[in-house]
Amino acid sequence: MTSWFISDLHLAPEETRITAGFLEFLQKPQAKHQLYILGDFFNYWVGDDIVDPYVEEIKQALRETAKRGVQLFFMHGNRDFLVGQQFCDDINCTLLPDPSLVTLNGESVLLMHGDSLCTKDTEYMNFRAMVRGNDWQQKFLSQSVADRQAFAQKAREESQKGNAMKDMDILDVTSSEVNRLMTEHKVSRMIHGHTHRPNTHEFQHDHSPMQRIVLGDWYTQGWYLKVDKQGYHLVEFDLPA
Ligand code: MN
Repeated sequence: MTSWFISDLHLAPEETRITAGFLEFLQKPQAKHQLYILGDFFNYWVGDDIVDPYVEEIKQALRETAKRGVQLFFMHGNRDFLVGQQFCDDINCTLLPDPSLVTLNGESVLLMHGDSLCTKDTEYMNFRAMVRGNDWQQKFLSQSVADRQAFAQKAREESQKGNAMKDMDILDVTSSEVNRLMTEHKVSRMIHGHTHRPNTHEFQHDHSPMQRIVLGDWYTQGWYLKVDKQGYHLVEFDLPA
């Protein structure tokens, strides 16, 4: 069994190196492997109904990957939480709830995007609760494409302004929330992205060894986590020039 995990690519047409790096990365998973995309795959997403040549290119590459026999899984991030069932059906991918439990090398492991772990950012947690509700989403998706895009643009600008002024500590995960979820789901290992702080954290909780693997964001470099019989390998690699 081999599984691949990526998150936080923030794919956008202007990000040509990241896009090329992703298309190259897609050649790695082989038939019967699993590829888990753990959110913020797209820089933003305002509805599956929007037709865009860049999105079509990405979808086509994912479709071909699925056709090779790779099992695809997609979890929402805070930027692409509006990716819907239509998108997943189009590329033959399973939409995973956040959090999700998977079995890796016979062990139960918790997967998350990671934004819900940053509980100290109360402003964001309130925003998250609002936009993840059905009422808000239906109302949003019924707006024109231009209005939806304008909202996404404004939300990104406000988030950037906000983050610049926030204490760095606020933007990392809250360890009590990590412990709470790992206890609730009876796991000793968790994988998430979102914080852009790739690392493997070993710690103790209730006298048990725990591990939290944080995926890296794709910016100047690419990142993936590969899990096979030999174990967990968090890998940073060069994007094509
Ligand atoms: Mn995120």
